[in-house]
Formats: sequence, C-alpha cells, structure tokens
Amino acid sequence: MNPQGLVELRDLVKVYATGDVEVRALDGIDLKIDEGEFVAVMGPSGSGKSTLMNILGCLDRPTSGHYFLGGDDVARMNADERAEIRNARIGFVFQNFNLLSRTSALENVELPLIYGRQGYGPHERAEKAMSMLAKVGLTGREKHNSSQLSGGQQQRVAIARAIATQPRLMLCDEPTGALDLETGRQVLELLQLTAGRDGRCVVVVTHNSGIAT
Ligand code: ADP
Ligand code: MG
Repeated sequence: MNPQGLVELRDLVKVYATGDVEVRALDGIDLKIDEGEFVAVMGPSGSGKSTLMNILGCLDRPTSGHYFLGGDDVARMNADERAEIRNARIGFVFQNFNLLSRTSALENVELPLIYGRQGYGPHERAEKAMSMLAKVGLTGREKHNSSQLSGGQQQRVAIARAIATQPRLMLCDEPTGALDLETGRQVLELLQLTAGRDGRCVVVVTHNSGIAT
C-alpha cells in the first residue's frame, strides 16, 4: 500500500483565464485521502467543487501544485497518459446519470468493460454486469431502458457502471442533485457502501448536510 495514501494534493491552484477576467477557482488546496475513505465535499455554488472533481478525475489539469494519485504525479502528465489513468483507476457518477438512452441497464454497465483493459469476452462481460447490477439492487431490471427506470434507479445503474471496472477512486459530482431527498439519501448510502471495497475511495460532492461521515 502506498504510504502517501491514494490521493494527495499539495498547494493545488486552478485559475481560469477568460478574456481579461481571472477566476481563482482553487487557491492552494492541500488534501490527503487514504485508501477506502469516503469523503464528502460541501460548499456553496461557485466555490470550486466541480473544478476540484475535474482535476481529481484527470479531466483537467491544475494551474500549479501537485496531484499524486497512487504516487504518480498526474499534474505533470499529458492528455494520453491522463486518459489511461482515468480508464484504469477512476469511476465517475454525474448529477444527470449520463446513461445511454434506448440502451438497456445491462448494456450501459457492460460498456466500460468493452473498452476496459480486462479483456473480458461477451459472456463474462454480461455476467460481470449482472453482478454489478445485483450489488446496486437492480436484479430483474437488466433489460429495462433508461426511460423505463426512475431517477434513483438510473443513478444506481450509473453507480454499477462506475464500479464495474473496479476503480480505486470513484468521483461523484452532485449525484443526488436530480433526486428527491429520500431517494438521494438511499443513493448516498449505496455510495458509502461502495467505499472501502477493494480499497476504493469515494469522493462525493453533495448538498445533503445530513450525510454521516
Ligand atoms: P462549484 O462546482 O462549486 O459550483 P465550479 O468549480 O463549477 O464551482 O466553479 C468555480 C468557479 O470557477 C466559478 O466562479 C466558475 O464560474 C468558474 N469556472 C468554472 N469552470 C470554468 C471555466 N471552464 N472557465 C472559466 N471559469 C470557470
Ligand atoms: Mg459544480
């Protein structure tokens, strides 16, 4: 296990420069996340939560500072290297689920396994996806399209898809933002359960202040 923890940010700064205006979205963040941790990120709108998640997810780079993921200095990597890290180590869950429409729950979960490095055959892939859907309580709904599922169920499919490749880091930007309070609470509970499995750490941006950490 890496003594630095899974994630370490050192003096991380992100400045957006649009025209003459500079926005300092992140101003010297230091953060350490250990394997298996569940982390809730809270803050008002515009405080830089999505900026932080985009950098953690290797979708964007910091203006300065260091981002170590499993000991690798991701901030220094080029786009191809970051894409590889993203595919191999990171799972994403978004506010609006981002499922393919007119595509079954099963196929949505299989998708990252097709492009993944595991090299599963079609049969293995389907079995794996079935077991992921079972983990999120959707056994019997495998053939349903997104439009035939409730918001909470769609988010469960998205979580199953995110954990299918067994990422070490799972990033969820306002995963309950489109859900009612009770459904949101259940989704957060499920995310808390997925943390710690395989040493996975889960970072959730949430407005739900009732969350137990
Ligand atoms: P949050 O997710 O907490 O609402 P964001 O990270 O989206 O906050 O935004 C933080 C600040 O950075 C805001 O002032 C926002 O307007 C600005 N910002 C975010 N993304 C960009 C961008 N791509 N270009 C310019 N400014 C941006
Ligand atoms: Mg945001």
